[in-house]
Amino acid sequence: MKTIIEPFKIKSVEPIYFTTREQRAIILKEAHYNPFLIHASEVLIDLLTDSGTSAMSSNQWAGIMQGDESYAGSTSFFHFESTIQEITGMPVIIPTHQGRASEKILFSIVGGKGKYIVSNTLFDTTRANIEFSGATGVDLICEEGKYPTIPAPFKGNMDIEALKTFIAEKGAENIPLCMMTITNNSGGGQPVSMQNIREAKAVCSSYGIPLFIDACRFAENAYFIKLRESGYSEKSIPEIVCELFSYADGCTMSAKKDAFANIGGFIAMHSEQLAQQCRNMLILTEGFPTYGGLAGRDLEAISIGLREVMDEHYLQYRIRSVEYLTNQLITAGVPVMQPAGGHAIYLDAKKFLAHIPVHQYPGQALVGALYLHGGIRGVEIGSLMFGKYNEQQQLIPAQQELVRLAIPRRVYTQSHIDYVAEVIIEVYQERAKIKGLRIVEEAPMLRHFTAKLTPIVS
Ligand SMILES: *Cc1c(COP(=O)(O)O)cnc(C)c1O
Repeated sequence: MKTIIEPFKIKSVEPIYFTTREQRAIILKEAHYNPFLIHASEVLIDLLTDSGTSAMSSNQWAGIMQGDESYAGSTSFFHFESTIQEITGMPVIIPTHQGRASEKILFSIVGGKGKYIVSNTLFDTTRANIEFSGATGVDLICEEGKYPTIPAPFKGNMDIEALKTFIAEKGAENIPLCMMTITNNSGGGQPVSMQNIREAKAVCSSYGIPLFIDACRFAENAYFIKLRESGYSEKSIPEIVCELFSYADGCTMSAKKDAFANIGGFIAMHSEQLAQQCRNMLILTEGFPTYGGLAGRDLEAISIGLREVMDEHYLQYRIRSVEYLTNQLITAGVPVMQPAGGHAIYLDAKKFLAHIPVHQYPGQALVGALYLHGGIRGVEIGSLMFGKYNEQQQLIPAQQELVRLAIPRRVYTQSHIDYVAEVIIEVYQERAKIKGLRIVEEAPMLRHFTAKLTPIVS
């Protein structure tokens, strides 16, 4: 087989920023060892997130010029609405300024004290919005999803038996919604199988619990289904996507992911009654229902992006480039999540830095080392992001200590990816020198965004 090439050519370029190791040492210290506090102009390869960092196509840019900025009834809204209706099969489409705005609206309506939102794995903003409403978020990841370096085809799946047990225990009346995250971002960008979605839907239906999809990476997930699930290899991506959404009562989405947009999101659903409540909240916090916190041009770019993302040449290149990086790391013996996920590689920091205990945040220490060594910015997905404290103020660690290097869509070329592999492998060879961190300042919620840390010198 020939090399799988980038399925685009480049019309416009932007600079990336070179620094020396000495400069980066100072920058890292001044940023309190938190990559969110580093200026983008001091990052060489920015793998902090794949969110809002996509390169838009010439078609999307053309759409930007055609955006209709009318306050009410914008033409761009009707493009947006009909595109998403066609993709999801859902009649109600509510635009929002990004994914978490959709979550805030949805959970302030269905959430609240004493309620449980069950999921395969909730994304951090989703969990935070659920908890902010007073409800409890519950992750029911399948057994194989708990072991980062053991390969399995659908490690993003929900544990269906655990779902049944949980509902029986807490009572369906206390579970207003089940959320299936596809692909499973916090669980490693791992896909969910069609069978798992179907089974989750069957269980939810039998209890009258609505099934929602966190659809941020619906196209990447659909491509994995095509590659790995029997019965789907001959189906087109739009056909798979259509079946996938047919099991859902609604969905939330961040258009900053699989819509190649720099901002945007939506909520889609079947229930007109829930939609009314959502629209009331939308007008309060986002805007009128035909723009929802977005400019007309954004709505246009999103509609075009949502069609482009289902192109199979694109998805093949996308999934393959993540796998290509993962395979280089596996060959070098680096502990990395297997198999490769859809949008990112996940280093297993617990194994990578086995000499650093979890309460010294090995993931965050590794993030710092990658920046220092090669100017690469990643993010910790471990106890800094998800850790809690018990009553004695001791850390209750997260299940895993991961470092995510997310690959922006259509942005970096193969030589950038080769460079990233070289840096990670060199850091792995020098891992014994890396030190743990302690927190000196933190916020009560989503603390990883603003926390300040300092190295532990012993
Ligand atoms: C990014 C993301 C969100 C939140 O979307 P924002 O646009 O960042 O607010 C929710 N769920 C998943 C799975 C995500 O990846």
